[in-house]
Amino acid sequence: MTPLSSAINTFSLPFGEQRNAPLYGQDILSVNQFNREDLTYIYRVAHEMRSIVERIGSFDLLNGKILANLFYEPSTRTSSSFTAAMERLGGSVIPINNVQYSSVSKGESLPDTVRTLECYADVIVLRHPEVGSCALAAQYAKKPIINAGDGIGEHPTQALLDLFTIFEELGNPEGLSVTLLGDLKNGRTVHSLARLLALFNVKLNYVSPEVLKMPEEIVAELGKKKVKQEAFSELDGILPETDVLYVTRVQKERFASLEEYEQLKDLYVITPETMKAAKQRMIVMHPLPRVGEISMDVDDDPRAAYFRQMEYGMYTRMALLAMVLGKA
Ligand code: ASP
Repeated sequence: MTPLSSAINTFSLPFGEQRNAPLYGQDILSVNQFNREDLTYIYRVAHEMRSIVERIGSFDLLNGKILANLFYEPSTRTSSSFTAAMERLGGSVIPINNVQYSSVSKGESLPDTVRTLECYADVIVLRHPEVGSCALAAQYAKKPIINAGDGIGEHPTQALLDLFTIFEELGNPEGLSVTLLGDLKNGRTVHSLARLLALFNVKLNYVSPEVLKMPEEIVAELGKKKVKQEAFSELDGILPETDVLYVTRVQKERFASLEEYEQLKDLYVITPETMKAAKQRMIVMHPLPRVGEISMDVDDDPRAAYFRQMEYGMYTRMALLAMVLGKA
């Protein structure tokens, strides 16, 4: 054995991966891949991540591991929370947030780009404007692909962190009345969250204008699972019984006509006045960014959970990275 390979052997011991660990080596493409047992495990790990970060900030569980953050659409929270998650676990990140400066602008295909990045990285986080793009990337990549938003399709890690927020703030979601408000047609976060909540006995209220309503296929999918669902055009009637109010932005980038967007964007605005009709024990969530749907005057209301929600996101993503890489 050469000195180098003996050194590598010594070093590789603490790097041992638990190959039978839940999610080890798996892609995260849709919330439909999870059952309640998976969620219990993920949230146990996320909760543990929270307490470790609160005590010591960071540790070296993923020392030597590399994440490629590949974003074909803008991102602040998803991209930086995956970076923070990886770095708090002692790993490192290849950030590709400006695909226009990568070989994508030379015409490289998505399969080739991910097959390139997996030569360097252990896991790839991908955001792309097309529905199904992450599933396509996963067909070609051998390393795990984590869907960080595929167009108007899904945003599974957001839904996982949203549900973690509900668990941490209100406890088990069984029996809760969850109101999803805003652009339910184009908002991938509500598509994933509604599907994930279908694992629990919740009531889902959809508040949107007719043109932005929850897609029929999702309503039908959840209908088959016997989820209680009801659609509204106004918030007033349903707010007093709501336990979780999940507000979304009208997704400007999905509109062909700016004029149509302008007509719809300010239909619902949550203000301190709105909050008077809400329960004392409830939470307001938002995947963010907000562009006027929640007035800043609501931010100091203890029920406003959207800033805490971002922090829960980092713990959830730490848990997912550790699990996918066989370290939890
Ligand atoms: N950040 C979320 C997403 O990427 C929500 C939004 O953009 O409105 O889907």
